[in-house]
Amino acid sequence: MTARPYNFSAGPAAMPAEVLEIAAGEMLDWHGTGMSVMEMSHRGKAFGEIIARAEADLRSLLAIPAQFKVLFMQGGGLGENAIVPLNLSRGGAVDFVISGSWSQKSHKEAGRYAQARVAASNADTKHTTLPAPASWAIGGDAQYVHLCSNETIHGVEFHELPDLKALGSDAPLVIDFSSHVASRPVDWSRVGLAFGGAQKNLGPAGLTLVVVREDLLGHALPICPSAFNYQTVADNGSMYNTPPTYAIYLAGLTFQWLQRQGGIAEMERRNIAKAALLYDFIDRSAFYENRVAPEARSRMNIPFFLQDESRNEAFLAGAQARGLLQLKGHKSVGGMRASLYNAMPIEGVRALVDYMQQFEKEMA
Ligand SMILES: *Cc1c(COP(=O)(O)O)cnc(C)c1O
Repeated sequence: MTARPYNFSAGPAAMPAEVLEIAAGEMLDWHGTGMSVMEMSHRGKAFGEIIARAEADLRSLLAIPAQFKVLFMQGGGLGENAIVPLNLSRGGAVDFVISGSWSQKSHKEAGRYAQARVAASNADTKHTTLPAPASWAIGGDAQYVHLCSNETIHGVEFHELPDLKALGSDAPLVIDFSSHVASRPVDWSRVGLAFGGAQKNLGPAGLTLVVVREDLLGHALPICPSAFNYQTVADNGSMYNTPPTYAIYLAGLTFQWLQRQGGIAEMERRNIAKAALLYDFIDRSAFYENRVAPEARSRMNIPFFLQDESRNEAFLAGAQARGLLQLKGHKSVGGMRASLYNAMPIEGVRALVDYMQQFEKEMA
């Protein structure tokens, strides 16, 4: 296979080349069935094997306890912003920790179905810090507390999940882990529900992963669409309606790839090294800047700025010419953003740092 460029997209994001190669090889005929995975009945034996293996592999990779259901859904992260309150709020009050754009969106959408409150916010620092859990105002009547554990746009990550019990709350914690799922282990003892779109770190767009503690099922509001009722989806093994079969297959191949890499602990080790390489370079440079507080910095999404923003276009064009793709920052933050998901090897981060160094020299 010829070398591919390094793709720093925030999502849909680069997938492991090995996974794409396997999928290409199986495109026309999956394991002698004479069918592409796209062409199979979701209720047939072949797809049954694919989805069962995907779930088993994911459970083992993320050490998901037995009392959690794994749901393969559709609707994306934004869909879950409505689906979670429809299933968990019981029409009551829910508390949000605002740490960036995604939690802001989640809060706004939940307000359509529940009394959505703000328990904490880092808006005063333009979403560059972590609101300290001890300062969160969680109501005794909160049906759940929502947290975006990695803010993809602002590059802010909770490196430890809060222990709500220790904060005096019995509410379940809901996390949007779209953009760092499978980048590090999850402490399930602190989580009631986790959701994520697959297109950052698990596979292609179209699949939404939900991991939910069993005791939270069965309380959906009457207006909740049946296809989005967690109890219904769980009772039907994610096959109440046709699931995104091809996306589940590709996510399953990605889970097998993760196992071959050494699992989630190994991915975390690599992700720490990759992020440190880029942050250390940026911090030593007077030419580039990252504005996120060091303890809040995401390992996955690293926004950075050129001190002289009139050079942005030249920077991006030079990067593109070197095979360093999709580095432009989100429009709401500006500057650049490098997303270093699991599929990004450390060689890609080295190539980026080399380029940044050279660009700085050329501009001197
Ligand atoms: C990408 C992303 C989403 C977006 O979800 P869609 O699949 O586009 O609906 C939601 N939350 C976070 C944290 C994300 O990074």
